[in-house]
Amino acid sequence: MSDYKIVLLKGDGIGPEIVNQAVKVLDKTAEKFGFTVEYDEALLGGCAIDATGVPLPDETVEKCKKADSVLLGAVGGPKWDTQPGNNRPEAGLLGIRGALGLFANLRPAVIFEPLKGASPIKDEIIGGALDIMIVRELTGGIYFGEKGRKEVNGNPAAYDTEMYSVPEIERIARVAFDLAMKRNKKLTSVDKANVLESSRLWRETVIRISKEYPEVELNHLYVDNCAMQLVINPGQFDVIVTSNIFGDILSDEASMISGSIGMLASASLSEGKSGLYEPIHGSAPDIAGLGVANPLATILSVAMMLRYSLDQPKAADAIENAVSTVLKEYRTPDIYAEGTKKVSTDEMGDLVCNAI
Ligand code: NAD
Repeated sequence: MSDYKIVLLKGDGIGPEIVNQAVKVLDKTAEKFGFTVEYDEALLGGCAIDATGVPLPDETVEKCKKADSVLLGAVGGPKWDTQPGNNRPEAGLLGIRGALGLFANLRPAVIFEPLKGASPIKDEIIGGALDIMIVRELTGGIYFGEKGRKEVNGNPAAYDTEMYSVPEIERIARVAFDLAMKRNKKLTSVDKANVLESSRLWRETVIRISKEYPEVELNHLYVDNCAMQLVINPGQFDVIVTSNIFGDILSDEASMISGSIGMLASASLSEGKSGLYEPIHGSAPDIAGLGVANPLATILSVAMMLRYSLDQPKAADAIENAVSTVLKEYRTPDIYAEGTKKVSTDEMGDLVCNAI
């Protein structure tokens, strides 16, 4: 019997190409660190619509629920743009996140030393290597609160409600504190407690949970200040925890500090250990099948899987170190710089394997 069962949702566009490289790298780490992995594939997105008529077949949900972890490539493409909203490939993505109860979204904003030049932020502001982890609450808050239209003083009006319960805040806070314990033991909780009642409850609850983690240094920032601090002094952050809407915006801002969409991994976690791991970029239909897609975001998603779901931190470190080493000399076209050698998707996968 294998140690871990992983479901692969390769999806559409460049999805299959990049997931294949990530599997190669996972196999290499398994061999090196002495564990075994069994794979199963399932359909999600456009390829699922073509085969079954819907973007998220029941069979896919069942397989993912039984797995130790799920690795997703990307979904979508022009072929399915005429599908009705609830049957588009992206609806499958939202569906699988909901079905697996993924309430915590982890988005690292990392700059690998050799890629510093690609960041829109000046070198002297970045300082040393940058490594921030944003933890975004994913299933509550204003995106899921009561919403509607009504009439106010004879004028049409609309409203959305930001609401968080204490258990929702407690569980996302614990994910963030646990992560901080594994990193530099520094947590920034981001809210708007000077204006919003829901933020005041958020802050009270985070402070209460902090008593369980006396080693973690906790501070609080208002979201507007945090947005500024990310560009003027990003080095001050280790882990950031925040609500769904603030995290949506801040994680995009922070990830752009790294300067390249092909490098950015993410994890979404449920209660318990399992999770869904995916690059943050889409299916890049413009370059699908050309062998030029950057597989590193997906490979780095596997590193996150090893660290957060499979308890193999050394294997995770090995992948991240291998990526950093390879980047000194080799680049896919999206991150190419003079003085380095341009390589294909497949070659990049092989180079990372060889560096492990
Ligand atoms: P995209 O992220 O697919 O592409 C944006 C640009 O970045 C393109 O020029 C693309 O070639 C480039 N790019 C993306 N990933 C790359 C990689 N790994 N290597 C090299 N270059 C890369 O975003 P888009 O073009 O807005 O969307 C394309 C499709 O993907 C749409 O159908 C969209 O709905 C879908 N999408 C899916 C996800 C997901 O599956 N999580 C996320 C975003 C968009």
